[in-house]
Amino acid sequence: MQKSAPRQRIQKGAIATPWAQELAQAIARPEDLPEALAERIAPFANAQGLFPFKVTPYYLSLADPRDPRDPILLQCLPDAAELKERPGLELDPIAERRHSPLPGLVRRYPDRAALLLGRACAVHCRHCTRRHMGQGNIRGLDAAGLEDAIAFLRDHAEISDVLVTGGDPLLLDDEVLAHALSRLRSIQSVRVIRVGTRAPVTLPTRITPNLIKTLRRFGPLYVLTQFNHPREITSLSKIALGRLASAGLPVANQSVLLRGVNDDPEVMEELCRNLFGLRVRPYYLFLCDQWPGLEHLRTSFDAALAVSEHLRGRLSGLAIPQLVVDLPGGLGKVPVGPDYVVRREPGKVVLRAPSGERVEYLNPIVQEPAEKEA
Ligand code: SF4
Repeated sequence: MQKSAPRQRIQKGAIATPWAQELAQAIARPEDLPEALAERIAPFANAQGLFPFKVTPYYLSLADPRDPRDPILLQCLPDAAELKERPGLELDPIAERRHSPLPGLVRRYPDRAALLLGRACAVHCRHCTRRHMGQGNIRGLDAAGLEDAIAFLRDHAEISDVLVTGGDPLLLDDEVLAHALSRLRSIQSVRVIRVGTRAPVTLPTRITPNLIKTLRRFGPLYVLTQFNHPREITSLSKIALGRLASAGLPVANQSVLLRGVNDDPEVMEELCRNLFGLRVRPYYLFLCDQWPGLEHLRTSFDAALAVSEHLRGRLSGLAIPQLVVDLPGGLGKVPVGPDYVVRREPGKVVLRAPSGERVEYLNPIVQEPAEKEA
């Protein structure tokens, strides 16, 4: 556990914006937590190898400190269970290091790449899949690293879609962010930019009118965020999401399915319904990556299917996230879900409705081209 608070550097003379002040006040020492919470993490506060904790006062204010299973605290407070080993699990569960052609760039698909631009996060999510990339502050790209990445992307014109991530890229100053986005936009073959951020969840004041103006300059640009529990939707996060949507910046949500946080089907239904009402498309529901020390937060595959099954038939298809597994080994994401095909028969298939009823779907009576020729 780190001893001193990681402070966001605010340039001398610059006027500290509320979000920067909030970030500077992020809590990273047990003694700065309310007493009950400090006691809770004290026994392993100095444990080596533990992802250091960090939380904004705003995000912590959403928690009930008296509840040992509070869904906000489960996401941001270290737990002794993180120190438990499980043989066979890798420190880089989706093999981003292996798929990194140069520092700060990950390429796991032919047409897409992730640019690890952000250097820090407002909250260190306990389930973070990138915590191996730096103890506490994820190593973001410096100016030279950014130019190397730009050169790589320029040389690989088949990459048309770049995810800007990190760390949280929206914790960078507007000018720094604008510079990186303009460099990306200078590459003709990059058609779409996606920005992965948890700021609307953990630091919603970051979504300022000036940030919106900055992002709008570099469209088509999608914002991918990560709300995991309905309690994360507050008046401030509603303002943030409203600003993004009203500016024509499509927002999609990628939840991580976490035991005790959102593995209750009704909790997930409420989250998806509320996000959809705020013009946020529930996009993915990830099974938690196989990180060592995360067994207490992971759910079983069958529990994940049960959540997915519950949503079907209750919500509009646009409000139902696709359940996915990011395959170990960096082989990409695969969609998984309850099977609605009961059996196949000649000329038809028998399907299961969300209500459980069986229904036949008839194949069309047309000859396939091969049959015609024969
Ligand atoms: S905001 Fe994203 S990158 Fe940062 S700690 Fe949370 S999950 Fe990890």
